[in-house]
Parts: sequence; C-alpha cells; structure tokens
Amino acid sequence: MSVAALLDRRVDTSRLRGFVIALADLLAAARDEQAILDAGSALLARLIGRDDWLPEAFARPHPHRYQQYLLHCDSRERFSVVSFVWGPGQATPIHDHTVWGLVGVLRGAERVERFRRNERGALVADGEPMLLRAGEVDAVSPRIGDIHRVSNGLADAPSISIHVYGANIGGVERSTYAVDGRPSSFVSGYANGDLPNLWDRSRAL
Ligand code: FE
Repeated sequence: MSVAALLDRRVDTSRLRGFVIALADLLAAARDEQAILDAGSALLARLIGRDDWLPEAFARPHPHRYQQYLLHCDSRERFSVVSFVWGPGQATPIHDHTVWGLVGVLRGAERVERFRRNERGALVADGEPMLLRAGEVDAVSPRIGDIHRVSNGLADAPSISIHVYGANIGGVERSTYAVDGRPSSFVSGYANGDLPNLWDRSRAL
C-alpha cells in the first residue's frame, strides 16, 4: 500500500465522496452555468465548512512552489476537484481557466486579484484585491471574468483552498499572462500521482 493510501485511512473521506456525488447530480440537472455556480458554491461552502476530511498527503506544502493536488476527476471529465496548498509567499502567475471554476478556502486565507482587459488589450486590475477567508467561496468563468492571480493570504503559515472546475483542469490548455496582456500557453498538470480513496464504503459500516 502506498504512503498516500495509508494516510487516507486517518480521515473520513465520505464528505468528499458526498460532495462529488452531489456535484455530478447538479451537472446532470442544471439548466445553465449560473445554476452550476450558484448551487455548486453552496455545496462547496458546505464541504469546506468543516476541516477534518482532507488527507494529510494532499495538504502538504512544497518549500518553493504552490501545490495542485487532484482529489477527484469525474469519469466524463465534466468536473475536477483540486486542493491548492500555498506556502508563505507563494502565488500563481496571472492566468485563465477557459471553463467555470469555484474557489473555496479550507484553511488560512487566499488573496485573489482579478484582471480585465482595457481598450488597448492590456490587463488592468478589476476591482480591489479580495481576501477570501476559510469558509468563503469565489467563482470564475469566461462569462463572469476568468483572469486572476491567486496567492497565500497569510504571510507566516500555509493556506489550503479547494477548487472545482468544469473540466479535468490539469489537462486543459490555457494561458498565463504578462501584465501587457501577452498570453503564454500552459497545461498545469497535478502534483500527485495517487488519489485519495473516496470509494471504500466499508469504512462507514
Ligand atoms: Fe485560478
């Protein structure tokens, strides 16, 4: 058994299982993207409302760069669930997603800076930076605003956020941006090779 699998046994992953089942039901029933964002935000807020279910292997910061751990990918790649772990001072580049996304803070805080294009095509701040705290949820999509930069909102401790996207986000070709608006193509991938086991229902029996 892998180290990740052993660590999984210490926490109850049934909450995450319930979340992915509810999200699959939502995607089957939702009329449009806004319905997914509205109901998905409520589901995500419930998931991150308690911090006792994320296995330690998917909560571990890296000394030099933020970590993006895949927790679950839908079998039809309609959505993926990811834990982002931020060490002090760690930040993403300015980037887009090309699909809808939900960002919920599980532990600590996350600083979100949104960008929009001005008339010359350069990127400019879209409002003041936001500090999302544990339990709070933000949304992105090409329809409502898709370009942002995210960083650890705490200067002296790791933060963890749970993100949900409308695709297998680690495999999506998307862009990072220079401040003048020039895009560079990237595919983020994931930091982990093993996934948490959500599906061993015998643990609850
Ligand atoms: Fe993002």
